Amino acid sequence: MKNNIIIALDGHSSCGKSTLAKSLAKALNYTYVDTGAMYRAVTLYLIQQDISVTDVEQVKAVLGDISIHFERIEGKNTTFLNGVNVEEEIRKMYVSDLVSPVATIPAVRRKLVQQQQEMGKNKGIVMDGRDIGTVVFPAAELKIFLTASAEERANRRYKELLEKGQEVSYEAILKNLQDRDRIDSTRADSPLKKAKDAIIIDNTLLSRDEQLVYTLKLAQQTIVKSQNDLSS
Ligand code: C5P
Repeated sequence: MKNNIIIALDGHSSCGKSTLAKSLAKALNYTYVDTGAMYRAVTLYLIQQDISVTDVEQVKAVLGDISIHFERIEGKNTTFLNGVNVEEEIRKMYVSDLVSPVATIPAVRRKLVQQQQEMGKNKGIVMDGRDIGTVVFPAAELKIFLTASAEERANRRYKELLEKGQEVSYEAILKNLQDRDRIDSTRADSPLKKAKDAIIIDNTLLSRDEQLVYTLKLAQQTIVKSQNDLSS
């Protein structure tokens, strides 16, 4: 469709990417894709099958057995692994602790990136992750790079998990997200980095509404620009 663009939303762990991406997708009537959920689902599968995340050959051997899809259930984006709803399970700390090493494996990335590119081929999509603006959709019309201080991110995540009834310490969360940032930014294959043409938003001091208002304006301007480019 003419007024459809791709919005790539990358950034550090737990800085509210998915909250913002979901709200943007809703406001624009676009599809939302949480690519982190896909890496989490692969990690959960490996844990369930008792496969070590460092055994790359074993991981590669079972990749063909993993099928991931999303459904909307009661208005919520829900992740399925081989037909089973794993939305809640993949958010638990034991998965968070192993997901970044899994995401360093090139064969895992190739499989998921291909699926992500397929999901976005008709545009009209907001996709969040670490490599969306750099690798998955380097030609995305709008790229946003979100960040916030590690302490603020840990604080938000701590409150969120407490509300869900999960028993975790603030220190464990802070360490997990600092470890993930380090692994994600230093891996050889598609490391987390800002795309040259991405707009940086540090949301440490911004409310959810302020971020939405600002990014929605950016999206609307980009949609108008891409319509003008198409018709000129
Ligand atoms: O977004 P979320 O924090 O759920 O992502 C979990 C992990 O998946 C990240 O820490 C990162 O290691 C990996 N990931 C990735 N590339 C993406 C999305 C997530 O490597 N596009």
